[in-house]
Amino acid sequence: VSLLVVDIGGTKVSSAWWRRGQLSQVRTRPMARDEAGFVTLLQDLHRDYPHARQLGVAVTGRAVAGVVRAVNAAMIGFWNGYPLAARMAGVGLPPPLLLNDAQAAAWGEFRADADADDGRPSGEEGRGAGAGDEALEGRRDLLFVTLSTGVGGGLVLGGRLQSGAAGLAGHIGHVGTALRAVDGDQACSCGRRNCLETVASGTALARQGRHVLGRECTAQEVLALAQSGDAALQQVVAVAAAAVAQALADARALTGVARVRLGGGLGLAPMMFDAIERALRELPPLFVPVLEPARLGAHAGLIGVGWWAEAHGVDVVREA
Ligand SMILES: [Zn+2]
Repeated sequence: VSLLVVDIGGTKVSSAWWRRGQLSQVRTRPMARDEAGFVTLLQDLHRDYPHARQLGVAVTGRAVAGVVRAVNAAMIGFWNGYPLAARMAGVGLPPPLLLNDAQAAAWGEFRADADADDGRPSGEEGRGAGAGDEALEGRRDLLFVTLSTGVGGGLVLGGRLQSGAAGLAGHIGHVGTALRAVDGDQACSCGRRNCLETVASGTALARQGRHVLGRECTAQEVLALAQSGDAALQQVVAVAAAAVAQALADARALTGVARVRLGGGLGLAPMMFDAIERALRELPPLFVPVLEPARLGAHAGLIGVGWWAEAHGVDVVREA
């Protein structure tokens, strides 16, 4: 075993060995708040996995030429412009393959399907033998969307993960929405206005909850109060769900993607998931993708970057 996979998020850092689709020695630590703390964290990683010969890293933000660029500049103080690859090399870790965390999760979800399909006859999931090329072609595309503190996404088209020259592909959280939050027009921390993330993220729900209730509250609290009948908060949830549904329809119109995997603590909350399904049913069927809950759970980023590094760093694996 020599391939180390790491997932660096806004609040925690997970790591594990990866071998042929399996994680082992999984560890999770809190994300460092400053550069010095982060270098210590990298040294700890090197100590915990001393024989790593290859390294795949899923990161929050865009990863361009070994440097992390934040999309949301308010994210983590030192993270925007951080030379991650150089710092990793500096503590003795192997040169990393870097991938945006939502793109990694998208790749993991896509590969999980490919594995599940192995050995099964084609035309599973209730599709008849006559479903034909369109259905087969559709299985080469997948959009992964995560609703949590922010809104992230990753897009696989024709069996290829779309990263984009600047690592930006799939950032559906920063697609503009025509729907307005209950507290009106919003400036997004990415520099645009009224992004999906300003209406439908956990942060956005909490902010709108505060506007309605006149006190601090969490996104989960907004969902709970909406569930128990608060009409104003039901409206907040309905607008967020409609904004997500519109963005999914836009993604389908733009790319043709017919399958969406929804993840994140907020996306997987039954009330939110159901509200998005309801909002999709209001749209013309041509633009409505099949919506499914994400399969891989908390380790989606590790799993996705494991598959990715295995496919893109073969030489190092062979050598080891
Ligand atoms: Zn934005």
